[in-house]
Amino acid sequence: MSVITINGVSKSFGDVAAVDNAHLEVASGEIVALLGPSGCGKTTLLRLLAGFEEPDEGQISLNGQTVASAEKSVAPEERHVGMVFQDYALFPHLTMSENVGYGIPRAERELRVPAVLAVVGLCGLGERYPNELSGGQQQRVALARALAPGPKVILLDEPWSNIDPLLRTSMRDELARVLRAIGVTVVLVTHDREEAFSLADRIALMHDGEIVQSGVPEDLYHTPSTRWAAAFVGPANFVPGYVANGHVETPLGKFPLRTPHERAHVDVLIRPETLALEPDPGGSAQVVRREFRGHDVFYGLELDDGTALVSQRPSTESARLGDRVRLCAHEAPVTVFSST
Ligand code: ATP
Repeated sequence: MSVITINGVSKSFGDVAAVDNAHLEVASGEIVALLGPSGCGKTTLLRLLAGFEEPDEGQISLNGQTVASAEKSVAPEERHVGMVFQDYALFPHLTMSENVGYGIPRAERELRVPAVLAVVGLCGLGERYPNELSGGQQQRVALARALAPGPKVILLDEPWSNIDPLLRTSMRDELARVLRAIGVTVVLVTHDREEAFSLADRIALMHDGEIVQSGVPEDLYHTPSTRWAAAFVGPANFVPGYVANGHVETPLGKFPLRTPHERAHVDVLIRPETLALEPDPGGSAQVVRREFRGHDVFYGLELDDGTALVSQRPSTESARLGDRVRLCAHEAPVTVFSST
Protein backbone atom coordinates (compact mmCIF):
# COMPACT_ATOMS: atom_id res chain seq x y z
CA MET A 1 0.00 0.00 0.00
CA SER A 2 1.19 3.52 -0.78
CA VAL A 3 2.10 5.62 2.23
CA ILE A 4 2.49 8.71 0.02
CA THR A 5 0.35 9.54 -3.03
CA ILE A 6 1.03 12.67 -5.04
CA ASN A 7 -1.65 13.07 -7.68
CA GLY A 8 -1.39 15.80 -10.33
CA VAL A 9 0.23 18.30 -7.97
CA SER A 10 1.27 21.73 -9.32
CA LYS A 11 2.71 24.74 -7.54
CA SER A 12 3.76 28.06 -9.11
CA PHE A 13 5.48 31.10 -7.67
CA GLY A 14 4.45 33.98 -9.97
CA ASP A 15 5.44 32.89 -13.48
CA VAL A 16 7.65 30.02 -12.27
CA ALA A 17 6.04 26.57 -12.37
CA ALA A 18 8.12 25.12 -9.50
CA VAL A 19 6.19 21.80 -9.57
CA ASP A 20 4.19 20.87 -12.65
CA ASN A 21 1.57 18.08 -12.58
CA ALA A 22 3.62 15.72 -10.39
CA HIS A 23 2.47 12.12 -9.87
CA LEU A 24 4.29 9.83 -7.45
CA GLU A 25 3.44 6.92 -5.16
CA VAL A 26 5.76 5.79 -2.37
CA ALA A 27 5.25 2.39 -0.74
CA SER A 28 5.67 1.66 2.96
CA GLY A 29 9.36 1.43 3.94
CA GLU A 30 10.60 2.65 0.56
CA ILE A 31 13.42 5.17 0.22
CA VAL A 32 12.68 7.43 -2.75
CA ALA A 33 15.09 10.12 -3.95
CA LEU A 34 13.87 13.27 -5.70
CA LEU A 35 16.83 13.86 -8.00
CA GLY A 36 17.38 16.79 -10.32
CA PRO A 37 19.43 19.92 -11.01
CA SER A 38 19.22 23.09 -8.96
CA GLY A 39 15.87 24.86 -9.30
CA CYS A 40 13.95 21.88 -10.74
CA GLY A 41 11.40 21.88 -7.90
CA LYS A 42 12.68 19.16 -5.54
CA THR A 43 12.52 21.22 -2.36
CA THR A 44 9.13 22.66 -3.30
CA LEU A 45 7.73 19.14 -3.72
CA LEU A 46 9.19 18.16 -0.33
CA ARG A 47 7.69 21.27 1.28
CA LEU A 48 4.31 20.45 -0.30
CA LEU A 49 4.51 17.00 1.33
CA ALA A 50 5.45 18.51 4.68
CA GLY A 51 2.63 21.06 4.47
CA PHE A 52 4.85 24.17 4.35
CA GLU A 53 3.40 24.98 0.91
CA GLU A 54 -0.10 24.40 -0.48
CA PRO A 55 -0.60 23.02 -4.01
CA ASP A 56 -2.38 25.14 -6.65
CA GLU A 57 -3.77 21.90 -8.12
CA GLY A 58 -3.84 18.20 -7.30
CA GLN A 59 -4.00 16.13 -4.13
CA ILE A 60 -1.53 14.70 -1.64
CA SER A 61 -2.40 11.74 0.60
CA LEU A 62 -0.35 10.45 3.50
CA ASN A 63 -1.19 7.09 5.08
CA GLY A 64 -4.44 6.94 3.15
CA GLN A 65 -5.62 10.35 4.34
CA THR A 66 -5.89 13.37 2.04
CA VAL A 67 -3.71 16.11 3.52
CA ALA A 68 -3.78 18.61 0.64
CA SER A 69 -6.38 19.22 -2.06
CA ALA A 70 -8.61 22.01 -3.36
CA GLU A 71 -10.94 21.44 -0.39
CA LYS A 72 -8.55 20.54 2.36
CA SER A 73 -5.21 21.47 3.92
CA VAL A 74 -3.91 19.59 6.95
CA ALA A 75 -1.41 21.61 9.05
CA PRO A 76 2.25 20.39 9.03
CA GLU A 77 2.14 19.31 12.69
CA GLU A 78 -0.95 17.16 11.97
CA ARG A 79 0.68 15.26 9.08
CA HIS A 80 2.92 13.03 11.26
CA VAL A 81 5.87 13.62 9.00
CA GLY A 82 9.44 14.13 10.28
CA MET A 83 11.71 16.52 8.43
CA VAL A 84 15.52 16.82 8.48
CA PHE A 85 16.63 20.15 7.04
CA GLN A 86 19.86 20.90 5.16
CA ASP A 87 21.41 22.77 8.08
CA TYR A 88 19.80 20.41 10.68
CA ALA A 89 18.15 23.46 12.36
CA LEU A 90 19.13 22.36 15.88
CA PHE A 91 18.48 24.82 18.72
CA PRO A 92 21.99 25.90 19.84
CA HIS A 93 20.92 26.72 23.42
CA LEU A 94 19.33 23.31 24.00
CA THR A 95 21.15 20.05 24.78
CA MET A 96 20.80 17.12 22.43
CA SER A 97 18.18 15.53 24.69
CA GLU A 98 16.22 18.79 24.80
CA ASN A 99 16.47 19.16 21.03
CA VAL A 100 15.21 15.61 20.50
CA GLY A 101 12.44 15.98 23.09
CA TYR A 102 11.22 19.31 21.72
CA GLY A 103 8.40 17.92 19.57
CA ILE A 104 7.01 15.25 21.91
CA PRO A 105 4.78 15.55 24.99
CA ARG A 106 6.72 16.31 28.22
CA ALA A 107 5.44 13.16 29.95
CA GLU A 108 6.89 10.94 27.21
CA ARG A 109 10.31 12.52 26.99
CA GLU A 110 12.02 10.57 29.78
CA LEU A 111 11.46 7.25 28.00
CA ARG A 112 11.39 8.23 24.33
CA VAL A 113 14.43 10.53 24.13
CA PRO A 114 17.05 7.98 25.32
CA ALA A 115 15.39 5.30 23.17
CA VAL A 116 15.57 7.35 19.99
CA LEU A 117 19.14 8.52 20.76
CA ALA A 118 20.06 4.84 21.06
CA VAL A 119 18.52 4.14 17.64
CA VAL A 120 20.82 6.72 16.03
CA GLY A 121 23.83 5.48 18.03
CA LEU A 122 24.22 8.47 20.39
CA CYS A 123 23.67 6.85 23.79
CA GLY A 124 25.10 8.83 26.67
CA LEU A 125 25.73 12.05 24.74
CA GLY A 126 22.34 13.64 25.49
CA GLU A 127 23.68 16.40 27.75
CA ARG A 128 25.99 17.89 25.11
CA TYR A 129 25.13 21.05 23.18
CA PRO A 130 25.16 21.13 19.34
CA ASN A 131 28.47 23.05 19.25
CA GLU A 132 30.07 20.17 21.17
CA LEU A 133 29.18 17.67 18.41
CA SER A 134 30.71 16.74 15.07
CA GLY A 135 28.75 17.37 11.86
CA GLY A 136 27.88 13.67 11.67
CA GLN A 137 26.63 13.63 15.27
CA GLN A 138 24.55 16.77 14.67
CA GLN A 139 22.96 15.08 11.69
CA ARG A 140 22.06 12.09 13.83
CA VAL A 141 20.51 14.38 16.45
CA ALA A 142 18.44 16.05 13.71
CA LEU A 143 17.31 12.60 12.57
CA ALA A 144 16.55 11.57 16.17
CA ARG A 145 14.45 14.71 16.61
CA ALA A 146 12.52 13.93 13.41
CA LEU A 147 12.02 10.29 14.50
CA ALA A 148 11.05 11.04 18.11
CA PRO A 149 7.30 11.62 17.53
CA GLY A 150 7.16 8.26 15.68
CA PRO A 151 6.35 9.49 12.15
CA LYS A 152 5.57 7.07 9.32
CA VAL A 153 7.34 9.34 6.84
CA ILE A 154 10.72 11.09 7.03
CA LEU A 155 11.64 13.87 4.59
CA LEU A 156 15.33 14.65 4.08
CA ASP A 157 16.41 17.81 2.28
CA GLU A 158 20.00 17.42 0.97
CA PRO A 159 21.16 16.15 4.37
CA TRP A 160 24.82 15.88 3.37
CA SER A 161 25.25 19.12 1.44
CA ASN A 162 27.44 20.73 4.11
CA ILE A 163 29.52 17.66 4.85
CA ASP A 164 33.10 16.98 3.83
CA PRO A 165 33.06 14.60 0.82
CA LEU A 166 35.24 12.09 2.68
CA LEU A 167 32.73 11.87 5.52
CA ARG A 168 29.68 11.89 3.28
CA THR A 169 29.85 8.26 2.23
CA SER A 170 30.14 6.89 5.74
CA MET A 171 27.40 9.21 7.03
CA ARG A 172 25.16 8.22 4.15
CA ASP A 173 25.67 4.50 4.84
CA GLU A 174 25.05 5.05 8.53
CA LEU A 175 21.85 7.01 7.97
CA ALA A 176 20.56 4.47 5.45
CA ARG A 177 21.24 1.66 7.94
CA VAL A 178 19.23 3.43 10.66
CA LEU A 179 16.34 4.32 8.34
CA ARG A 180 16.09 0.78 6.94
CA ALA A 181 16.28 -0.76 10.40
CA ILE A 182 13.31 1.35 11.52
CA GLY A 183 11.42 0.64 8.29
CA VAL A 184 10.25 4.24 7.98
CA THR A 185 9.21 5.59 4.55
CA VAL A 186 11.67 8.18 3.27
CA VAL A 187 11.68 10.90 0.62
CA LEU A 188 15.13 12.37 0.10
CA VAL A 189 16.01 15.44 -1.98
CA THR A 190 19.37 15.44 -3.71
CA HIS A 191 21.09 16.76 -6.83
CA ASP A 192 23.84 14.15 -6.46
CA ARG A 193 23.15 11.16 -8.69
CA GLU A 194 25.61 8.89 -6.88
CA GLU A 195 23.88 9.65 -3.62
CA ALA A 196 20.51 8.81 -5.16
CA PHE A 197 21.86 5.64 -6.82
CA SER A 198 23.52 4.29 -3.70
CA LEU A 199 20.76 5.07 -1.24
CA ALA A 200 17.37 5.01 -2.93
CA ASP A 201 15.13 2.07 -3.79
CA ARG A 202 13.58 4.29 -6.41
CA ILE A 203 14.41 7.64 -7.98
CA ALA A 204 11.98 10.30 -9.21
CA LEU A 205 13.96 12.40 -11.68
CA MET A 206 12.80 16.03 -11.90
CA HIS A 207 13.39 18.59 -14.64
CA ASP A 208 11.80 22.05 -14.86
CA GLY A 209 9.16 21.19 -12.27
CA GLU A 210 8.16 17.86 -13.84
CA ILE A 211 8.87 14.32 -12.69
CA VAL A 212 10.22 13.12 -16.04
CA GLN A 213 10.90 9.53 -14.98
CA SER A 214 10.66 7.39 -11.89
CA GLY A 215 12.10 3.94 -11.44
CA VAL A 216 14.79 1.84 -9.82
CA PRO A 217 18.30 3.30 -10.21
CA GLU A 218 19.35 0.66 -12.78
CA ASP A 219 16.41 1.56 -15.04
CA LEU A 220 17.15 5.26 -14.88
CA TYR A 221 20.76 4.61 -15.81
CA HIS A 222 20.24 2.03 -18.56
CA THR A 223 16.84 3.07 -19.97
CA PRO A 224 16.51 6.81 -19.42
CA SER A 225 13.34 8.22 -20.96
CA THR A 226 14.98 11.21 -22.71
CA ARG A 227 18.42 12.35 -23.85
CA TRP A 228 18.37 14.92 -21.07
CA ALA A 229 17.72 12.19 -18.46
CA ALA A 230 20.46 10.02 -20.00
CA ALA A 231 23.02 12.81 -19.69
CA PHE A 232 21.89 13.89 -16.21
CA VAL A 233 22.21 10.48 -14.58
CA GLY A 234 25.69 9.75 -15.95
CA PRO A 235 28.33 10.45 -18.59
CA ALA A 236 26.89 9.55 -21.99
CA ASN A 237 27.94 9.12 -25.62
CA PHE A 238 25.23 9.57 -28.27
CA VAL A 239 26.29 7.77 -31.43
CA PRO A 240 24.31 8.02 -34.69
CA GLY A 241 22.60 4.78 -35.70
CA TYR A 242 20.16 3.18 -38.11
CA VAL A 243 17.40 0.88 -36.81
CA ALA A 244 16.52 -2.28 -38.74
CA ASN A 245 15.07 -5.64 -37.64
CA GLY A 246 15.30 -5.02 -33.88
CA HIS A 247 18.96 -3.97 -34.11
CA VAL A 248 20.76 -0.71 -34.61
CA GLU A 249 23.80 -0.26 -36.85
CA THR A 250 26.39 2.28 -35.62
CA PRO A 251 30.02 3.19 -36.37
CA LEU A 252 30.86 1.17 -33.22
CA GLY A 253 29.06 -1.98 -34.40
CA LYS A 254 25.59 -3.52 -34.36
CA PHE A 255 23.54 -3.70 -31.12
CA PRO A 256 20.20 -5.21 -30.12
CA LEU A 257 17.58 -2.64 -28.99
CA ARG A 258 16.43 -2.63 -25.37
CA THR A 259 12.98 -1.50 -26.47
CA PRO A 260 11.53 -1.25 -30.00
CA HIS A 261 11.83 2.13 -31.73
CA GLU A 262 9.71 3.28 -34.66
CA ARG A 263 12.17 5.79 -36.13
CA ALA A 264 14.96 4.62 -38.43
CA HIS A 265 17.54 7.33 -37.68
CA VAL A 266 18.42 7.43 -34.01
CA ASP A 267 21.08 8.40 -31.50
CA VAL A 268 22.35 5.43 -29.52
CA LEU A 269 23.27 5.75 -25.84
CA ILE A 270 26.68 4.24 -25.18
CA ARG A 271 27.88 4.64 -21.60
CA PRO A 272 31.64 5.35 -21.38
CA GLU A 273 32.32 2.27 -19.23
CA THR A 274 30.92 0.02 -21.99
CA LEU A 275 33.42 1.37 -24.52
CA ALA A 276 36.71 -0.51 -24.31
CA LEU A 277 39.85 0.58 -26.14
CA GLU A 278 43.08 -1.06 -27.17
CA PRO A 279 46.18 0.80 -28.39
CA ASP A 280 46.49 -0.01 -32.10
CA PRO A 281 48.35 2.13 -34.70
CA GLY A 282 45.66 1.15 -37.26
CA GLY A 283 42.75 1.91 -34.87
CA SER A 284 39.78 4.09 -35.81
CA ALA A 285 40.10 6.65 -32.98
CA GLN A 286 42.69 8.86 -31.33
CA VAL A 287 43.07 9.72 -27.63
CA VAL A 288 42.71 13.52 -27.51
CA ARG A 289 42.17 13.86 -23.72
CA ARG A 290 43.14 11.73 -20.74
CA GLU A 291 41.78 12.37 -17.24
CA PHE A 292 43.16 10.22 -14.44
CA ARG A 293 40.56 9.85 -11.67
CA GLY A 294 42.16 7.30 -9.35
CA HIS A 295 40.26 4.06 -9.85
CA ASP A 296 39.27 5.06 -13.42
CA VAL A 297 40.64 6.98 -16.36
CA PHE A 298 38.38 9.00 -18.69
CA TYR A 299 39.61 9.07 -22.27
CA GLY A 300 38.41 11.73 -24.71
CA LEU A 301 38.43 10.11 -28.17
CA GLU A 302 37.99 11.38 -31.70
CA LEU A 303 36.94 9.26 -34.66
CA ASP A 304 38.29 10.10 -38.12
CA ASP A 305 34.98 11.77 -39.07
CA GLY A 306 35.35 14.12 -36.06
CA THR A 307 32.84 12.31 -33.77
CA ALA A 308 33.82 12.87 -30.12
CA LEU A 309 33.44 9.99 -27.64
CA VAL A 310 34.33 9.28 -24.02
CA SER A 311 35.58 5.98 -22.65
CA GLN A 312 35.94 5.14 -18.96
CA ARG A 313 38.45 2.40 -18.18
CA PRO A 314 39.94 1.02 -14.95
CA SER A 315 43.23 2.77 -14.24
CA THR A 316 44.97 -0.62 -14.47
CA GLU A 317 44.55 -0.25 -18.26
CA SER A 318 46.56 2.36 -20.05
CA ALA A 319 46.54 4.32 -23.27
CA ARG A 320 48.49 7.55 -23.69
CA LEU A 321 47.49 10.92 -25.01
CA GLY A 322 47.84 10.90 -28.81
CA ASP A 323 47.66 7.08 -29.09
CA ARG A 324 45.59 5.59 -31.87
CA VAL A 325 43.17 3.04 -30.43
CA ARG A 326 40.78 0.36 -31.56
CA LEU A 327 37.32 0.66 -29.95
CA CYS A 328 35.13 -2.19 -28.82
CA ALA A 329 31.67 -1.50 -27.41
CA HIS A 330 30.01 -4.02 -25.10
CA GLU A 331 27.43 -5.93 -27.14
CA ALA A 332 24.54 -5.52 -24.69
CA PRO A 333 21.09 -4.15 -25.71
CA VAL A 334 21.12 -0.36 -26.11
CA THR A 335 18.71 2.52 -25.53
CA VAL A 336 18.09 4.82 -28.50
CA PHE A 337 16.55 8.29 -28.95
CA SER A 338 15.13 9.95 -32.04
CA SER A 339 17.90 11.91 -33.76
CA THR A 340 17.98 15.59 -32.93
P1 ATP B 1 17.95 23.51 -5.25
O1 ATP B 1 18.55 22.15 -5.53
O2 ATP B 1 18.79 24.64 -5.77
O3 ATP B 1 17.54 23.69 -3.81
P2 ATP B 1 15.27 22.76 -6.08
O4 ATP B 1 15.26 21.74 -7.15
O5 ATP B 1 15.03 22.30 -4.69
O6 ATP B 1 16.62 23.61 -6.14
P3 ATP B 1 13.14 24.64 -5.62
O7 ATP B 1 13.83 25.26 -4.43
O8 ATP B 1 11.98 23.78 -5.36
O9 ATP B 1 14.19 23.85 -6.51
O10 ATP B 1 12.73 25.81 -6.61
C1 ATP B 1 12.03 25.58 -7.83
C2 ATP B 1 11.78 26.92 -8.50
O11 ATP B 1 10.84 27.67 -7.74
C3 ATP B 1 13.03 27.80 -8.60
O12 ATP B 1 12.95 28.50 -9.81
C4 ATP B 1 12.90 28.73 -7.42
O13 ATP B 1 13.56 29.95 -7.67
C5 ATP B 1 11.40 28.90 -7.32
N1 ATP B 1 10.96 29.13 -5.92
C6 ATP B 1 11.04 28.25 -4.90
N2 ATP B 1 10.52 28.77 -3.77
C7 ATP B 1 10.09 30.02 -4.09
C8 ATP B 1 9.44 31.08 -3.36
N3 ATP B 1 9.12 30.93 -2.08
N4 ATP B 1 9.16 32.21 -4.04
C9 ATP B 1 9.46 32.35 -5.34
N5 ATP B 1 10.06 31.40 -6.09
C10 ATP B 1 10.38 30.25 -5.48
